[in-house]
Amino acid sequence: MTKKFICIRCPKGCEITTTLDGSGVITEITGNNCKLGIDYVKAELSDPRRTLTTTVEVIEGELPLCPVWTESPIPKDKIKELADALRAIKITAPVKINQIVLENALGTGVNVVAEREINKHSTLAD
Ligand code: SF4
Repeated sequence: MTKKFICIRCPKGCEITTTLDGSGVITEITGNNCKLGIDYVKAELSDPRRTLTTTVEVIEGELPLCPVWTESPIPKDKIKELADALRAIKITAPVKINQIVLENALGTGVNVVAEREINKHSTLAD
């Protein structure tokens, strides 16, 4: 059986073809321009993960939304569930960079953190 992947480890986006035997063991990999492509395919076959970047609502902030992301990649099949969960979360300004917005997201052991600082709205600041 063959499986095709587009490597996303760098902007080159190599198209990689993998041949697997009947037990799912890789017998051949072609199309990768470096070893990272092999690591990428192995990870995709055993435990595919992605980093989620999105926004959460900010109460009393100088901006209405704060960009957030997972500190490290989480299982790909949990991305949609986490995006839905984050849509329901509201944080109150001031927000500090790297502030934890959601600890141990969906039991993955990965925190979701703020990517930027957001001050309290000037009419509300002390
Ligand atoms: S195989 Fe190497 S060169 Fe090709 S996209 Fe992946 S990281 Fe980039």
